[in-house]
Amino acid sequence: MQIISSRERHVYPVIFPTSYGAIGTINFFIINDGGSLTLIDTGIDHEECWNYFNLVLAEQGCKVTDIDRIILTHHHEDHVGLLKRILAIKNIPIYAHPLAILRLQMDVDFFRMRYQFFNDLYKEMDCFHDAQPRLERLTRTLNELDDKRLIANYIPIQEGDNVNSLEVFETPGHSPDSISLYDQERKWLFTGDLVLNESSTNAIVDPDQNGVRLKSVTEQRKSLAKCAEIDVWLTFPGHQTIIENHKPLIHQKIGFMNRKCERILTLLTEKPQTASSLAKQYYRSKYRTEFSLVMSEIIGYLDYLEEHQLVEKKKVDGVWIYSQSLEKNEEAIQED
Ligand SMILES: [Zn+2]
Repeated sequence: MQIISSRERHVYPVIFPTSYGAIGTINFFIINDGGSLTLIDTGIDHEECWNYFNLVLAEQGCKVTDIDRIILTHHHEDHVGLLKRILAIKNIPIYAHPLAILRLQMDVDFFRMRYQFFNDLYKEMDCFHDAQPRLERLTRTLNELDDKRLIANYIPIQEGDNVNSLEVFETPGHSPDSISLYDQERKWLFTGDLVLNESSTNAIVDPDQNGVRLKSVTEQRKSLAKCAEIDVWLTFPGHQTIIENHKPLIHQKIGFMNRKCERILTLLTEKPQTASSLAKQYYRSKYRTEFSLVMSEIIGYLDYLEEHQLVEKKKVDGVWIYSQSLEKNEEAIQED
């Protein structure tokens, strides 16, 4: 197993191979500071992942009871999976963004609001019928809040906070609660799903605590640009391989996003259309198989293009119709 060490700090990466979502591996990291253990993320809730995690700990002469704290990069299930199992053994503090805590605590009012948010969104985007399986899943979640609730000693962390010499950078876009953790002394950055070596990261549409749609693609771009500014040697992502010198990769990701903007604008040149019609043309069969991710992407990109005055929308019979802006400003795409 690979161990990364610098100035009395050791990282034991837990790289768990998986077919989950075609992302290659699920990564989480044990940081050892002279016997004090910090865990960044907790993998997925599978028996094999749990066994593998225990094996990595044992190889270093450690066990679950030696872990002192957990920091979460975001609330997605492949990052918080083993939390319950760990907390059942030892009740340790969980550091996470307030928007992650809201979701992990399964706040009833928030989840009711979130259901209504997607219900209204899919109507406005003209895909209410196609969204029924997603809405049924959201209803199931609403009915299972009590079972899924994760009661823990949460400590909210935000931009500029510092946990055990790891500085918090808010890097939303993939999720509203995404954070990155920076070890300035060693130039290490733990980024969750912000930037991956071998695949692109989805910018996922989600409401904030007030039910306002966050501009996921705009935020993702800003978060990528923000990370490119940080002096980093090694980036520890939530999936796939560890990244050395993240800047070229980040610029490549932003270039890819620019090309996606252009492709969507080209489709809109042909004719004004709804977000779901665009999603069907852009993603074809994936529109059905990966409905919520595909709609998230298209809505995120349309929000971004609208913000940069490249796209306009008008409501006809309760549905948004998007068209290319008459006063288009192509340079805006390159801006950030
Ligand atoms: Zn994620």
